[in-house]
Amino acid sequence: MNLIIFGPPGSGKGTYATRLQNQLGIPAIATGDIFRETIKQGTPTGKKVEKYLKSGQLVPDEIVIEVLKERINREDCKKGFILDGFPRTIEQAKALDKITKINAIINLQVPDHIITARLSSRRICKNCGAIYNLLNLKPKKDGICDKCGGELYQREDDKEDVIKDRIEIYKKQTQPILEYYKNKVPFVNFKCENIDMPPEKAVEQILEGLRKIGNRKN
Ligand code: AMP
Repeated sequence: MNLIIFGPPGSGKGTYATRLQNQLGIPAIATGDIFRETIKQGTPTGKKVEKYLKSGQLVPDEIVIEVLKERINREDCKKGFILDGFPRTIEQAKALDKITKINAIINLQVPDHIITARLSSRRICKNCGAIYNLLNLKPKKDGICDKCGGELYQREDDKEDVIKDRIEIYKKQTQPILEYYKNKVPFVNFKCENIDMPPEKAVEQILEGLRKIGNRKN
């Protein structure tokens, strides 16, 4: 199953994609993570994209598409994948159509006040990237990652004054892409109206939506 997960920053996208990856046995692919890794490793691609990530600008389509193509051609994507953070432009969506077929869109709909509360309490492991939330996904020990013992930190752009801009940018950027997929690909719309909703419950609802789509096809 080839899936795309869309959702505003703080909608739980990364958390859900990671859990779905375990449940469905297909990899979650986050283009932002790939770029951060290439920058860390100092690869030629890393050198090319560094300035865009630093300034929060989109990496040019031809670079992103090349990187994504290479990633989804790998062995672990044979049974499918979950894209997180791609496509971000109509050109990327069109390029993806040429490479492969998308079976479903997971569309996370979360009200702005929940996003703001969630992002300002998000913490990330410096070492392994695991995501925590002081509201509903607390680490066992304050400031320490359960999985690897790494130190937890707050992203600069998770501070409240930046969050509002990020929500606006997401709305502007993503709306046209959702329109592009409407009537082409089935949607699993997941509405989060309760800030305390545990991630496993959300994932269960998303899986139920995916099952319904699967049944409709059979
Ligand atoms: P993210 O971790 O998804 O917030 O992405 C971090 C940064 O990586 C973005 O601000 C962009 O600079 C770059 N990036 C990630 N995915 C894409 C994409 N699909 N198109 C263009 N730039 C991207």
